[in-house]
Amino acid sequence: MNGVRDFESLFEVSGRPLALHAFVVGYEPISESVSVRGGRPGRYLLEPVTAAAVAYDDGWVLLDGGFNLDVVRDEVKRAQHFNYETYTPVVPPGDPLRDGVAGAGLSWDRLAGCAISHAHVDHTGIVPTLPDQVPVVIQRREWEWVSGGAARPQFVVPADLLEAQERIRVIDGDAVLAPGLTALDTSGHTPGHQSFMIELPGRTVVLACDAADLHVNITSRTPCGWTPEPDGDERAQRAIDRLADLAEAGVEVWPGHDPDWVPWAAAMRGEDVTVR
Ligand SMILES: [Zn+2]
Repeated sequence: MNGVRDFESLFEVSGRPLALHAFVVGYEPISESVSVRGGRPGRYLLEPVTAAAVAYDDGWVLLDGGFNLDVVRDEVKRAQHFNYETYTPVVPPGDPLRDGVAGAGLSWDRLAGCAISHAHVDHTGIVPTLPDQVPVVIQRREWEWVSGGAARPQFVVPADLLEAQERIRVIDGDAVLAPGLTALDTSGHTPGHQSFMIELPGRTVVLACDAADLHVNITSRTPCGWTPEPDGDERAQRAIDRLADLAEAGVEVWPGHDPDWVPWAAAMRGEDVTVR
């Protein structure tokens, strides 16, 4: 399929996850009605854009990659890819993701792989700048959506993924990416959205990503308000029910964009957020 190979092997890390490093790599004003079905269209939240690193003894894995800074900071490209009437990316000075990775003591030489929750602009930006040998995992349905023409109206910068085609590995549904790191099918928000479960020494964390922007999505079992497909609402409901079931079973489920979620709030204050 277009030169994209099926996922062949796990990321090359061994042992178990030792730590999860959580980063806030930008911000975006989002209407409550986009984050929560039935929310108020005129109420805007300044939501953090989040990413994370899972550290192993012999390498690490990146989960999501924020904005493409080359696009955000170029007047012409920004106008091509972002529609100010509906969406505005906000990135602090510098390179927040690379600064966060450095602050966590991780080296890009030891990056074993990257998994992207979904193809929206606030998650794919790092992909074109990753080293050539680093595999990038997304769900097959997501790849088909992007390679089938999703673009600015769908909040996608297609080149982020299409130009990395050689390194894209597709998976179907739940899959073990590395020991103690599992992709969970939480499609609906986009056709192939995935969340990530990380089994740390002392706790298990699920990064919901955009299957739950806010904690209230999980506690009220209310999905996000934006879906691109006719069956998106139904699938988004299944996804939020899956995450809510995990939360009720005692798993920590972290919403993807909640400014009040304690770890993200700490990262927004510039604090190191490392959980083990
Ligand atoms: Zn997002």
